[in-house]
Amino acid sequence: MGLPGRRGRAALAASLALVGLGGGALAAPGSPGTTADARAVSQPRVDPVYPGTGDDVVDALHYDLRLSWLRPTRTLVGRERLTFRAARDADVLRLDLSRRLRVSALRLDDVAVPFRQHGDDLVVRAPLTADSVHRLDLAYRGRPAPVRAPSVRDDLRSVGLTTSRGGQAWTFQQPYGAFTWYAVDDQPADKATYDVRVATPPAWRGVSGGRLVAERRLPTRRVMRWRLDVPAAAYTTTLAVGPYERRGVRGAGDGPRIVLTLPTGRADRLERRLRHLGADLAWLGRRLGPYPFDSLGVLGVPGASALEAQSLVTIGVGRRAPRSLTSRPVLVHELAHQWCGDLLTPSTWRDVWLSEGLATYLQALYEAQHGGPGIDDVTTYWHYEEPRLRADAGPPAAYPAERFGDDNVYVIPALMWHRIRQQVGDAAFWAALRAWPTSQPGGVADLDGAAAWWSEATGHDLVPVFERWLRGTDPADAQASSGPVDGGAG
Ligand SMILES: [Zn+2]
Repeated sequence: MGLPGRRGRAALAASLALVGLGGGALAAPGSPGTTADARAVSQPRVDPVYPGTGDDVVDALHYDLRLSWLRPTRTLVGRERLTFRAARDADVLRLDLSRRLRVSALRLDDVAVPFRQHGDDLVVRAPLTADSVHRLDLAYRGRPAPVRAPSVRDDLRSVGLTTSRGGQAWTFQQPYGAFTWYAVDDQPADKATYDVRVATPPAWRGVSGGRLVAERRLPTRRVMRWRLDVPAAAYTTTLAVGPYERRGVRGAGDGPRIVLTLPTGRADRLERRLRHLGADLAWLGRRLGPYPFDSLGVLGVPGASALEAQSLVTIGVGRRAPRSLTSRPVLVHELAHQWCGDLLTPSTWRDVWLSEGLATYLQALYEAQHGGPGIDDVTTYWHYEEPRLRADAGPPAAYPAERFGDDNVYVIPALMWHRIRQQVGDAAFWAALRAWPTSQPGGVADLDGAAAWWSEATGHDLVPVFERWLRGTDPADAQASSGPVDGGAG
């Protein structure tokens, strides 16, 4: 997600062995056709900041969603097949699912089992043994609506699937909100692969993340099928239904072709604004390594926020959306999240600094090299702001639950990265940064893991640095910077 307010402008090897995986696909019992990617094996958890989300029993491996959007009544009809691993012995599993979506049928491994919907939880009773793999099938329908966001940001009042009077639908869902359109372990540590099929009125399109594998237009409806092959956290999935056009933008060098999905009638103007995406992606690639996924798109929705959905950056282009959301620096920020946030994901919402800090730092370096304020000016400003942000919204890794996405998780860690770069030197910093997004098993990281890895990678003991900057209540940047550094690699 972009910076709030005006600033936005400018392994489980053992389990694998137990379920019979050799690194390839795994089959769910009784379902020879259902496979899931071994890379989707996670250590699931209840989120410490948002304990209403997540379940430490369900390790989602693959979601197969068949969705139909009924425009006149703004009704979502869903059939879902979730392939999951039981992460421990249990008698009950709990998925996040909006109370507005009512489940009409549910089977576990082809057997009807008792279930109930309690608030925004779907509770299924069944004996599960640690490391057993299962298939949960359910049918649901309802009129989706977003929920209040745990934030004081103007552009983050609600999260989840939002609908317009005209029957369009789109979603921004950080830190949670996927549960407003499917039954999900809505916690970032539990990454999974996805197949999403969306049926819409024939003149509209149903859009989701990943590769488009099929599109069929029938007299009464259009069906689009999407596949996310690299495990994704639930908050990085996306869904939009509306009158969309698809346009290609040339990539740069060996970068991917970029597909723009834009509202009909405004596509020409928006396409012109987004024509630099290929070059800007290449700028990031020189710092972070090759783009990590097999497709990349930008989706322009009627909302007024921006989110780093995996392989499909979702930006608000609605009437109330600031024009800055389609500016190059904001797009660079969201594209940086493809490495820092999507490929490597905070394991809990305590660690949101981990994705936002690096995206903000890279955005600032990009602006410095493209006619914006120099990095020394920016970091001087951050230095000045840091004590106030820490006092207002807490340390970046210990913010109050109702202050999600405040400036403190952007600016303070961005300044920390700059100080780390000054301490370890450019060569060590950029080499470590390039290795970092692919360094963590399961594609998730937390503060202690990050501090240990960066210390090892740079040869400097950074544990006290991370501790002071991210968990400390006193201003961490009491000392002036140790000297200017330039605007970054090549
Ligand atoms: Zn962000």
